[in-house]
Amino acid sequence: MTKTIVYCERCEARCKVDDLRNPDAKMLRRSKEPRGLCINCAVHDWLRNTYPPNILLAQSGPKILLYPHIQQQFTDIMRVACADARPDEIDWQIIVDNWDLPFPHKMKPSAANPCSQLELDEIASGKRRGLGCIGPPKPDPLKGKPPRSFEDINLLEPGLGDEFKRLMDRIR
Ligand SMILES: [Zn+2]
Repeated sequence: MTKTIVYCERCEARCKVDDLRNPDAKMLRRSKEPRGLCINCAVHDWLRNTYPPNILLAQSGPKILLYPHIQQQFTDIMRVACADARPDEIDWQIIVDNWDLPFPHKMKPSAANPCSQLELDEIASGKRRGLGCIGPPKPDPLKGKPPRSFEDINLLEPGLGDEFKRLMDRIR
């Protein structure tokens, strides 16, 4: 069985075209034709087209992909989706190193992914807010100490201490 050598259309890595394709694979499917993306670029392509991983990565930057528990989550997704690729074929460091390389094709619009490339770029550069619940943590006004007065509670959440005081006064 001869294996054709091709070069990735994005990062120009050498790839072998494998004849063994799984027709049921729902992600990272091997290419039928001797062209396409290498496994690392294909993983990034999947991530940028999948919501919410795409928006989370735009907010956090790609370095979180180097954490083993994040990679494990991806491996679990691959197993569920019958991925054609094997987890040990993925080189996460290369994915992070090549993060800013342009793709030869645009993101695929889909009902499951409300984010455009422009939105992801603006979130990554801080021009646009991402998911509200994952904003940067506010500095703790009490510096770790528990609140001891209604004024302390007001510092944590403006007005909450006053409201609390009103309730307490009513009970008394
Ligand atoms: Zn590539």
